[in-house]
Amino acid sequence: MASVNKVLVVGGGIGGLSAGVALRQAGIEVDIAELHPAFDVYGVGIIQPSNALRALDSLGLADACLEQGSPYGPIDLHAPNGHKFASVGPPPLGRFQPHNGISRRILHTILHDGAQAHGVKCRMNLSVSSFDNREDGVDVTFTDGSTAPYDLVVGADGVNSKVRSLLFGPQKARYVGQSVWRYAFDRPAELTTGHMYMGRNTRVGLIPMTKDRMYMFLLSSEGENPVIPTEQLLPRMKALLVDYSAPLVRQAAEQITDPEGIIYRPLETLLMPAPWYKNRVVIIGDAAHATIPQLGQGASLAIEDAVVLAELLRTGEPVAAVLEQFMARRFERCKMVVENSNTVSEWEQLEWQGRLPEGANVAALIGQASGRMGAPI
Ligand SMILES: Cc1cc2nc3c(=O)[nH]c(=O)nc-3n(C[C@H](O)[C@H](O)[C@H](O)COP(=O)(O)OP(=O)(O)OC[C@H]3O[C@@H](n4cnc5c(N)ncnc54)[C@H](O)[C@@H]3O)c2cc1C
Repeated sequence: MASVNKVLVVGGGIGGLSAGVALRQAGIEVDIAELHPAFDVYGVGIIQPSNALRALDSLGLADACLEQGSPYGPIDLHAPNGHKFASVGPPPLGRFQPHNGISRRILHTILHDGAQAHGVKCRMNLSVSSFDNREDGVDVTFTDGSTAPYDLVVGADGVNSKVRSLLFGPQKARYVGQSVWRYAFDRPAELTTGHMYMGRNTRVGLIPMTKDRMYMFLLSSEGENPVIPTEQLLPRMKALLVDYSAPLVRQAAEQITDPEGIIYRPLETLLMPAPWYKNRVVIIGDAAHATIPQLGQGASLAIEDAVVLAELLRTGEPVAAVLEQFMARRFERCKMVVENSNTVSEWEQLEWQGRLPEGANVAALIGQASGRMGAPI
């Protein structure tokens, strides 16, 4: 029998829904409390490296992602004119290629349908307002005034986690000085893998999303003030792309016409020190380790957290021992991703200012860190 009978997961994002499925597979009753009244996931894509697919496979959801996404090999790295100079990515794992591109909305639907099929109860428009967190259980008071006892609470409520602040006090993610601009397009036939173009002071990615669609990400340095008024998004994104003469980038840039289609986001990082739990409350995913997307690994880590936590709870060992083992299996791996992603960002910004230290090589670091993600979890 599992270590716990009934778990509350706070947050119905990628990590929370994955936790719902994984815990139900372990025979545990699960409620999810999601702050938003309805799921409203933006329509650009996400990179799923092979380790994310391996974790989703243990939830029975990898095939749906492959069928509704677009598997591809290593990401080709190019100069702004399109000259290819390297390829990077995690290793293929079993039947999984290094990457799968997928629409965030489709991924969310797959996870949500999976959670429903496994009997997870999703309660929308709801959060936690407080909890009495003891060694033997946790009594939760919800924002609607209702209360309920649980054996364990899992905070999967993202980078601005309420559960984290109830556990450890307020913590603020750090803005790294860069922002990402994203836009979705029809996919040209020539796009058969992911591409990254290393510009003079920006970086552009073209990533397959479905068989017919792709998205662009554009990484830029926005200094101290990353807030950009909506009416400036379109001209500024187009101006940042002027440097690129690679045909695929030029074709895409011409199709950026709808300001509403631009998803702009300043990048923030946060790594909580170990342990990520107290008594019967634990945080996972971005709540514990919000990484910037330089390695495309944030969501993968959230899914892996969910899989490992459920696997350990399934053993029936005492909760304190389970959570200790959870930290032993998760902390160094997540720290490696967060820290290497931050280093990539620092080096990119120094390179863009012409001050890259000798021996620092952005492409090599992405390659090395990605290569380590095939290790067992
Ligand atoms: C620009 C960008 C690009 C990225 N690209 C990639 C990529 O290509 N590949 C990859 O693997 N990762 C990528 N990531 C990272 C990835 O999006 C995150 O790591 C991932 O979404 C984390 O999942 P999560 O479930 O922890 O948090 P989230 O996905 O943020 O989910 C949190 C959920 O909790 C809910 N919530 C929030 N507060 C509360 C509350 N108080 N009570 C209840 N519910 C609450 C939210 O509504 C949401 O549903 C990217 C991130 C960024 C910023």
